[in-house]
Amino acid sequence: MERTTDADRINEIQHSAQPCFQCGICAASCPIFRVAPDFNPRMAVDEVLRTGTVAMTGREWFCAYCLMCEERCPMEVALSEILIDIKNLSANDGKVPPSIIEMMDVIRFTGKVSHASKRTEKKRRELGLPELPKPDVDEVQTIFEMTGALDRLMRFREAEVEPE
Ligand code: SF4
Ligand code: SF4
Repeated sequence: MERTTDADRINEIQHSAQPCFQCGICAASCPIFRVAPDFNPRMAVDEVLRTGTVAMTGREWFCAYCLMCEERCPMEVALSEILIDIKNLSANDGKVPPSIIEMMDVIRFTGKVSHASKRTEKKRRELGLPELPKPDVDEVQTIFEMTGALDRLMRFREAEVEPE
């Protein structure tokens, strides 16, 4: 199978961003932009359209994937997907925040990002929802190995160690 290169991915981002006319509704709708004005989804789209490049400043990791921008974009630009692509490019470049590396480890050993609280479990019972399934951790570890996520995690961990 042919591998997608970073250049292909940037072309795809550019293609998805094409309908944008810079109205700014995405930024106005973004809850992260409200508290961290350095992170602006409109600017991420503007950058790729103007320069054909993607700025990997580290701020792309601020995106919480809430989809608010995408819901409100009048041109249906797939902004959250664009930001995931930028995060992937950033990871290829070795720029991964420690919190994301920790999260990968938690998933590897528990099969979950976080545990449902007692309150959530109670609420689910009250709503008649079934018990949450227990993840098969062996299966999760196999997925990590077979998809290359484990190798990648190890590389991120090595890069975290400051050279003497
Ligand atoms: S809401 Fe859509 S069209 Fe408007 S600036 Fe954002 S991406 Fe562009
Ligand atoms: S998906 Fe990301 S960029 Fe869009 S509104 Fe949510 S946090 Fe902001």
